[in-house]
Amino acid sequence: MKRILITGGGGFLGTHLCERLLAQGNEVICVDNFYTGAKRNIYHLLDNPRFELIRHDITFPLYVECDEIYNLACPASPIHYQRDPVQTVKTCVHGAINMLGLAKRLNAKILQASTSEVYGDPSVHPQVESYWGNVNPIGVRSCYDEGKRCAETLFSSYHMQCALRIKIVRIFNTYGPCMHPHDGRVVSNFILQALRNQDITLYGDGSQTRSFCYRDDLIEAMIRMMGTGDEVTGPVNIGNPGEFTILQLAETILELTGSRSKLIRMPLPSDDPKQRQPDISQARRLLGWEPTTPLREGLKKTIEYFDRLLREDPDFCTQNGNF
Ligand code: NAD
Ligand code: UDP
Repeated sequence: MKRILITGGGGFLGTHLCERLLAQGNEVICVDNFYTGAKRNIYHLLDNPRFELIRHDITFPLYVECDEIYNLACPASPIHYQRDPVQTVKTCVHGAINMLGLAKRLNAKILQASTSEVYGDPSVHPQVESYWGNVNPIGVRSCYDEGKRCAETLFSSYHMQCALRIKIVRIFNTYGPCMHPHDGRVVSNFILQALRNQDITLYGDGSQTRSFCYRDDLIEAMIRMMGTGDEVTGPVNIGNPGEFTILQLAETILELTGSRSKLIRMPLPSDDPKQRQPDISQARRLLGWEPTTPLREGLKKTIEYFDRLLREDPDFCTQNGNF
C-alpha cells in the first residue's frame, strides 16, 4: 500500500484516478481547489478511511507526506483556462514548482499530466514525442500551452539537476463520465445539447480533427506510466489514434442519441488546432498499452452518464456552480 497524492483529484480525470488507486488498496490524498472540479464527483469516496480530501490551491506550498504524486491540477477546457489566464499560468508553473519541491523533499515519484497542446497547431502529423511543436506564445491558448510546456521544462530540470524521479505523459483529448456539465469541451457540449434537443454548436466548418480517448483507457496508461522503472521519464503520448473530424463527432452523437437537434455554425476560436492525432508507439513499447474502447462505445457510456445526470440531478446540470 502506498500513500498517493493526486492534485486535481476532484476533476474529470482525477476522480477516476482516485477510484482506481483506492481500488488497488492505496491511501489517496486528493487535493483540489474546485475551480473546475466538483465535490459531487468524490462524495462517494469521503467515507473511505483510506481517502482524504484537502481543499487547497497548488499555487501555494503544500506540506504532506506521500510516496507518489500525480499532478493533474489545472483547468483543461479552453473556456475555463482562458477565463483567468494568469491563474492558469500560475497553476501550471508555480503549481509544478510546489509539487516538485514536495517530491524532492520526500524523494517521491512524480507524474505530470501534460498535454497534446504542447504541440500547438502541429505541422507534423501524427504527433510524435520528438516533435517540438508549433505554439503561439501570446495567443488565447498560450496560458495553457506555454504553461504546460514550462511545467515539462521544470520537471526535466528537476530530473537533470536533482535526479528526481519524474514521469511526463502528454494526454490527447479524453472524454467520459464525470465530465462537468459546464465543462465546455466538445464531447460534453455536444452530448448535452443532443440530449436536450438544443442546437449543436459546431465551431468553424467542423473539418478540424481530434482523436478521442475514453477516460478508463487513459487512466490505465497513466497508472502504468507511474509503475515504470526510473529510467522511463517520458514524455510519452497517451491517447487514442482514431482520428475524427468534429463534424463526424457531431453526426455520431446525433445518431447515438436519436436527437432532433440541428447543427449550427459558430466562429472558430483563434489558434484552434486544425488536426491532432497521437503516435502511440512509445506507449505501446514502454507501457504495453493501447486503448481498447472504440469511440462509439465510449460515447454510449458517456451519453448514459449524462442522460442519468439530467434526470437525477437537473440542478447540478443547470446551475453554473463555480463557473
Ligand atoms: P478538469 O478541469 O476536470 O480537472 C482539473 C482539476 O484541477 C479540477 O478539479 C480543478 O478544480 C483542479 N484545479 C485547477 N486549478 C487548481 C489549483 N490551482 N489548485 C488545485 N486544484 C486545481 O480537467 P481534466 O480533464 O480532469 O484534466 C486533468 C489534467 O489532465 C489537467 O492537468 C489537464 O491539463 C490534463 N489534460 C487533460 C486532457 C483531457 O482531454 N481531459 C487532455 C490533456 C491534458
Ligand atoms: N468545438 C466545437 N463546438 C463546441 C466545443 C468545441 O465545435 O461546442 C470544437 C473546437 O473548436 C475544437 C474541438 O471541438 O476544434 C475540440 O475542442 P475542445 O474544447 O474539446 O478541446 P481542444 O482540443 O480544442 O482543446
